[in-house]
Amino acid sequence: MSEREYEVLIIGSGPAGLSAALNARVRNKSVAVVSRRLASPSLDKAPSIDNYLGVERIGGADLENRFIEQARGAGAYLLECDVLGLFNLGDSFSAFTSAGDYGCKAVVIATGAVQAASIPGESQYVGSGVSYCATCDGPLYRGKRAVVLGYTAHAAEEANFLAEICSQVTFVAVRGGKAEGVPELREEIRVVRGPAKAIHGAVSVTGVEIEGETIPADGVFVIRDSMPAERLIEGIEVADGAIRVNRDMATNIPGAFAAGDCTGRPYQVAKAVGEGQVAGLSAARYVDALPK
Ligand SMILES: Cc1cc2nc3c(=O)[nH]c(=O)nc-3n(C[C@H](O)[C@H](O)[C@H](O)COP(=O)(O)OP(=O)(O)OC[C@H]3O[C@@H](n4cnc5c(N)ncnc54)[C@H](O)[C@@H]3O)c2cc1C
Repeated sequence: MSEREYEVLIIGSGPAGLSAALNARVRNKSVAVVSRRLASPSLDKAPSIDNYLGVERIGGADLENRFIEQARGAGAYLLECDVLGLFNLGDSFSAFTSAGDYGCKAVVIATGAVQAASIPGESQYVGSGVSYCATCDGPLYRGKRAVVLGYTAHAAEEANFLAEICSQVTFVAVRGGKAEGVPELREEIRVVRGPAKAIHGAVSVTGVEIEGETIPADGVFVIRDSMPAERLIEGIEVADGAIRVNRDMATNIPGAFAAGDCTGRPYQVAKAVGEGQVAGLSAARYVDALPK
C-alpha cells in the first residue's frame, strides 16, 4: 500500500476517532486519522471532566492529549487536514482532503456533533458560491468579495487567509461575537454581528443576509467544527441529524462505520470511546473479510 493508502481511515481525532484508531491498530491494521485539528473542539471547551471512569477531575484538553499520545504510540498515523468529501468506490473509499486524496478499505466517521442547522440557501449554492474550505476553494475567489460565517479559531484563520487574496472580506460572527482564544482578524476584515439569516443568489451566490443588511458576496465560506454527514458522503442514512448505525457501528454503506457524537446523544466521552472501540474493531473485521 502507498503512503496515501490505509486499511482503515478515521475522520476526526476526538475520543471516538482515537479510540477507533487504537483498536484497529490492536487488530494490526494500517490506520490513518485525518482531522481538521489534532484536537477535539468539544473537549477543548470542557474545563473539567468528572464522569469518565478511572480518571478523576481532568481538564478536557489534557484528557484529549492523553488520547492522542496513546493512539500515536499504538502506530496510528495522525494528519491534520480537512476532509471535504468521501467517495464510495464499491470495495474501497477515497477521501478528498485539503492535503490531497487518501484511499482506504474501510472508514470510520467520528466528526462530532453538527452544531448549526443549515442556513437557508446554503445547500442550494454549494459549488456555486458556498464553500466549506477557504484553503481549498479560496483561489477561485481571488480579487472577489468573500463572506466568512464562523466563530472558531479555524474560521478566523480562514478569513485571514482570504484577506490576502480577496478584494473584500466580511467576517460574520455567527454567535454574535468571537469565542475566547480566537486569533485576531486582519484589520482590513470587516466584522459584523450574526447570525446569517439567508444566503441569496441567482445562478450563483450574490449576498448574505444578516439583521438589517445584505452583504454583497461572490463566495460564502461556512466554517463549522463539523460537516453534516450527508454532505460528507452521498447516500449515508441520517435521522434527526445523527448518522444511523447498528450495534456494530456500521452505517448503511458497506465499509463505512461511525462513532461518537455524530451518531447522536448522549454527547459524552465514555459513549464516544465505547462506540469508537466497536467501530474500530468492526472496521478491522470488515477489512479481514474482503477478498485478498
Ligand atoms: C463545554 C463542554 C463540556 C463537556 N463536558 C463533558 C463532561 O463533563 N463529560 C463528558 O463525558 N463529556 C463532556 N462533553 C462532551 C464531549 O466533549 C463529547 O461528547 C466528545 O468530545 C465527543 O467526542 P467525538 O470524538 O464524537 O467528537 P469531537 O470530540 O467533537 O471530535 C470531532 C473531531 O472531528 C474532526 N472533524 C470534524 N469534521 C471534520 C472534517 N470534515 N474533516 C476532518 N476532521 C473533522 C474535528 O476536528 C474533531 O477532531 C462536553 C462538551 C462540551 C462542549
